[in-house]
Amino acid sequence: MVGLKASSTRIRSSFAIALAFLAAAALTVTVAPAEAGEGGLSAAPAPPPVQPVTPGAASRQVFPVRGAHQYWDGFGAGRGHDGADVGARCGTPLVAAQAGRVRFVKYHARAGNYLVIDVKESIYDLAYMHLAEPAPVAPGQSVAAGQPVGIVGDTGNASGCHLHFELWEGAYYGGGAPIDPMPYLLSIDGERKRAKRAR
Ligand SMILES: [Zn+2]
Repeated sequence: MVGLKASSTRIRSSFAIALAFLAAAALTVTVAPAEAGEGGLSAAPAPPPVQPVTPGAASRQVFPVRGAHQYWDGFGAGRGHDGADVGARCGTPLVAAQAGRVRFVKYHARAGNYLVIDVKESIYDLAYMHLAEPAPVAPGQSVAAGQPVGIVGDTGNASGCHLHFELWEGAYYGGGAPIDPMPYLLSIDGERKRAKRAR
């Protein structure tokens, strides 16, 4: 439900899909991240060259919400929404979608309790917001795909229990920009896949 960034040069490319194969993009972002909410970064860096897609090189991916869920507002949503909202009961476990390193575990007036993970061997960052409680991990800590990182809540500016999930190409408020996370989420949503097969 939050849009931490008022405006920016958005990269609405299909790179989210390429995230599934991020083993190919072993770029390192060294820019120091800014605090959430400071925004002010008016330009995103030029996108990195896209490596050839190699499915066999994909690292393990786990849908971040471990329970019944439904999709609410998507990216943009007519209000500069920087992520996708996944509705789920408060208390539903959240896990790291991919292996990486925790960048931030903080509280923000709009984001509530939030967590940012720098995905291993990629330029991408993942942000989880509105957690019911502070994430049970620490900045700098490595996390494995599927490792618990908190529970769904409605802290901050949230109307209803949900995960606000952001996918950043580049560093979160550190030179990167949020991109539409829906292709990524749908590609790793086991329930969604089962539902499709059932029809
Ligand atoms: Zn949201």
